[in-house]
Amino acid sequence: MLNRRQLLQGIGAAAASGAFSTRLLAQAAPVEVIVIGAGGAGLAAAKELLAAGIGVLVLEARDRIGGRAFTDTSMGVAWDRGCSWLHASDVNPWVAYARKNDFELIADRFPRHVFDGSRRLGGAETAGLRAVRERIARELAEAGRRGLDIPAEAALTQATLADPWYPMAEPGMTSWEGIEPANFSTLDQYQFVEKGDDLMIPRGYGALLAHYARDIAVRLRTPVSRIRWTARGVTAEAGAGAFTARVAIVALPSAVIADGAVIFSPHLPAEVLQAHHDLPLGLMNKVALRFKRNVFPAERTEFWRLCRNDGRGMDYLTRHWDNNVSIGFCAGRLAQEIEAAGEAASIDHALTELTAMLGSDLRRQFDRGAATAWATDPFARGSYSHCLPGRFGARAILTRPVGGRIVFAGEHTEQTAYGTLHGAHMSGLRAAREARRLLAGKA
Ligand SMILES: Cc1cc2nc3c(=O)[nH]c(=O)nc-3n(C[C@H](O)[C@H](O)[C@H](O)COP(=O)(O)OP(=O)(O)OC[C@H]3O[C@@H](n4cnc5c(N)ncnc54)[C@H](O)[C@@H]3O)c2cc1C
Repeated sequence: MLNRRQLLQGIGAAAASGAFSTRLLAQAAPVEVIVIGAGGAGLAAAKELLAAGIGVLVLEARDRIGGRAFTDTSMGVAWDRGCSWLHASDVNPWVAYARKNDFELIADRFPRHVFDGSRRLGGAETAGLRAVRERIARELAEAGRRGLDIPAEAALTQATLADPWYPMAEPGMTSWEGIEPANFSTLDQYQFVEKGDDLMIPRGYGALLAHYARDIAVRLRTPVSRIRWTARGVTAEAGAGAFTARVAIVALPSAVIADGAVIFSPHLPAEVLQAHHDLPLGLMNKVALRFKRNVFPAERTEFWRLCRNDGRGMDYLTRHWDNNVSIGFCAGRLAQEIEAAGEAASIDHALTELTAMLGSDLRRQFDRGAATAWATDPFARGSYSHCLPGRFGARAILTRPVGGRIVFAGEHTEQTAYGTLHGAHMSGLRAAREARRLLAGKA
């Protein structure tokens, strides 16, 4: 489950693009573009426009920037509450940015241990699991090549579904989309470009984004509730404030718009609103566990996977960056359930599962924990987008401006890198280009 694109290795079509600007940001000119949302997408759009000398106002609901890219240091070690892997490193523009700015990058080649409850799987068993995972990848790729916009599960053969290892392999699919394979489009996931190793940043992926955005002024604690648009301009309403510009870049999670947390006046065209509904956010949650001493079998970071027949196992990075900390991961229904049970129950669940693999001393040495709750976070409403079966094309709809005034950005709009921070970045660059075209009267 750890590498959520693992099954897609080697498949995909187009290459990702997008370079980081090294130009100095221009002084703020009169505001021509409002950017709503200071996550990876909104920040990329703002930085591009500022570098081109265009006046930009960035409005952000939270008291921090970064959105779903956020590095937490409260456990005494940096851990990412949201994104942490630089996927598709051969085409991921953050790799060059990290190298240029002295952020250490580590390839995810950690030793892997696979358990069924408290029992470590033997060689023949892991080979069986690997074989079914490879078959799943092949069958999904074949269905994608054939253009089948059907549930991923429906793209699998009966032989695969009946394989005794299938229930243990299924969570691998669930974690890459945040939802079980009956619920996402095979054709959509086939478009994701996976090229190169997955990399990680010990200082944190969220910290990297914060570094990139350090010179962008953002108006925090400003949740936009309504966007009014006319032929002449756009007004974003947030509490008592109203902010006007010629163009708005709306860089909000799809679910925030689908849920009606931001109202458009007049309403968005039906197909645009529908596209937000067709790209809901699946769920991944993380649990950080801190111990009083090194309770793990190794001194270096490792990866432990607990596979259960009911798909309810968790994955763990242990000895996180050589500290007495483990980061647990779960996705889909399991993530929904443990989030609904509350933070204390999430921590207890993650600790119980890790103890099953590593032994009872863990509980005695347990110090403290923290759990994410992305589904109930009002400014995210989930972790990353997937496309509903039968709704392929929704992402493309959101790349078209509305009324010559509104441009959408966000990971959910990026077909070849959806669900990622590099996808969010690429969408921000695309939105900035589109906004400049609109400002130039080329609507
Ligand atoms: C647990 C988890 C694990 C992940 N793992 C990875 C990974 O390993 N690798 C990877 O590449 N990606 C991963 N992702 C996905 C990645 O984090 C996201 O795709 C990316 O950060 C999304 O950026 P964005 O700008 O599109 O949206 P966001 O980051 O959500 O930005 C939207 C912004 O809008 C703000 N906002 C919301 N409502 C309002 C409002 N009404 N008014 C004003 N502002 C508002 C939000 O606060 C937020 O700052 C993960 C995500 C999660 C949650």
